[in-house]
Amino acid sequence: MNKSIGSLSKQHIQLASEAFSCTRFDPISGNWVLYSPNRTQRPSDYPRTDHSSSRKDSCPFCVGQESSTPPSIWVGKKTNTGFSYLHRHSDEPHINDEGWLVRVFANLFPAVSGTEPSRAIAHYPNTDLQISAVGSHEVIVDTRAHSNRMSDVTIDESQLVYRAIHHRLMTLGAERSIQYISVFKNSGGSAGASLEHSHWQLLGTNFVPSYVTQTLDRMQQYERHHGTCLVCSLTNTEVSQKKRIVLRSNLLTAYCPFASEFPMQVRITPNLHTPDFTSSTEKILDECAIFTRKLILILQDIYPDASYNLILSNLPPKTSSAFSAFHWTIDLCPRLSNFAGFEIATRNMINCVMPENAATFYRGGLKKLSTR
Ligand SMILES: [Zn+2]
Ligand SMILES: [Zn+2]
Repeated sequence: MNKSIGSLSKQHIQLASEAFSCTRFDPISGNWVLYSPNRTQRPSDYPRTDHSSSRKDSCPFCVGQESSTPPSIWVGKKTNTGFSYLHRHSDEPHINDEGWLVRVFANLFPAVSGTEPSRAIAHYPNTDLQISAVGSHEVIVDTRAHSNRMSDVTIDESQLVYRAIHHRLMTLGAERSIQYISVFKNSGGSAGASLEHSHWQLLGTNFVPSYVTQTLDRMQQYERHHGTCLVCSLTNTEVSQKKRIVLRSNLLTAYCPFASEFPMQVRITPNLHTPDFTSSTEKILDECAIFTRKLILILQDIYPDASYNLILSNLPPKTSSAFSAFHWTIDLCPRLSNFAGFEIATRNMINCVMPENAATFYRGGLKKLSTR
């Protein structure tokens, strides 16, 4: 661990305790977030250790253990001239996945599966309250290394995983029964990961979750009233105010959202208004890898065992041609504190780190990264 970055973080987190509690409204979700900076004083707020459960010698995601999982659906490799990809067609039992850097396969324990149309299977009292859930649940192993440390993942692997996500979104989105595709990475036990070996998941469902529907409605309302996209407006505000900006290039901007729900949350979004992630160029995909890689390296430098979730929020596939108000984002959500009674009772989060302090922390970490 780099001691100088460690002391920098503590200094900036300490600043948070000087702030007072407040609530902030998130115009995208329509939720309020309660900021309670004094809660950083509680020693249990920042778990330093995490207890991941898998061992290298029994890990089904490791090189050489490919037969422990369903066969590869998509494989990314490095060649002399760049990257190469293979994807399995429905009439092929196997593809050659030797030398893979990133591989995709069906989840052995899927949350949903099957393609038959949904049907009501229970009525109570006069409404369909239970319908069959079908869909697709896939795993993307995004490194050959048995690790969840970004420093063990190569830049080639980081870039290939976004090509894998792009391809799988296109393919799953074309399936008739899939109405929404949730793309996320759980890293560490506190983020919900059951295996230590780094991986993403894609979960395609035959319904659009209500949180997503509410978000779409809010973005559509904003566009109607203001004639522009809500995410574009928020990003422009962040760029002009500067204090929550973390990283910006010609293509992407990373900032700590004004109403961040999680301590140290960072949002990455394209500078150009882009509703659908599947329209991303390879340059954008590579830039996503560079941005997420840097942010996670900084986070893990300070909190080596910090759990985190990465969430890609994208347009539901069947709405892409008609819906212009949406704008995709990737959120890095460190899991430095746990949900408790208030969050469950109200669905509102308590955040103990002001986003302005979080952004200062990441900017300090970026300076250290660039001097290594
Ligand atoms: Zn492994
Ligand atoms: Zn936009």
